[in-house]
Amino acid sequence: MAREKILIVEDEPSLTDVLAYNLNREGYEVIVAHDGKEGLRKAQMLLPDLVILDIMLPSLGGLEICKELRASPTTAHIPVLMLTAKTEETDQVVGFAVGADDYVTKPFSVKVLLQRIKVLLRRASAVEPASEIIESGSLRIDKRSHRVLLDNQPLPLTPTEFRLLETLMRQPGRAFSRQDLMESAIGDGAIVLERTIDVHIKSLRRKLKHAGELIETVRGVGYRFREEEMAR
Ligand code: CA
Repeated sequence: MAREKILIVEDEPSLTDVLAYNLNREGYEVIVAHDGKEGLRKAQMLLPDLVILDIMLPSLGGLEICKELRASPTTAHIPVLMLTAKTEETDQVVGFAVGADDYVTKPFSVKVLLQRIKVLLRRASAVEPASEIIESGSLRIDKRSHRVLLDNQPLPLTPTEFRLLETLMRQPGRAFSRQDLMESAIGDGAIVLERTIDVHIKSLRRKLKHAGELIETVRGVGYRFREEEMAR
């Protein structure tokens, strides 16, 4: 089974370091954002399994981010665990009002935080088991077996191609920039040229054969997965 992905949105580097270290050690895949806008963008784009969200953030506050996540069908189900300072008791109330699932007051013990995370993830997977399969026409991604099937035949995709396709297929109709795709398919901190994405997409389209045309080029932006026509 794929590792669960946790996004940490927190502007204190010492805290993100400690959290990232411990979450990694617990087997989670960790993504970090150090300001609010970056955090919201990464949440919308990478669709993590859980978001750890600080309230006081530069550029966009945690409450605002939570509200945004809840307002969109693609992110509404993602569990949000808020981090609040002890003096901000009202923030907790407001936090729940905008849709946070749980909160932890600073300073907290990492052990307690890990327990809360486990509970939230378990609860989330109990109500939302279907996201392991993504389908569009004759193309299907099975996350559990980590396979892509075209007309029921498995395709030999590289891990990067797999992640690119998954990112695009999860949000059909949405245009992703090359920067977006790099972050989601190759990961934070990787030093690659944006043209690298074009190379991966080219190879992916070739392997997808007739379904390759489902990956559309968005001029001046990047790529998107074609939306299925709703009416039949
Ligand atoms: Ca903060």
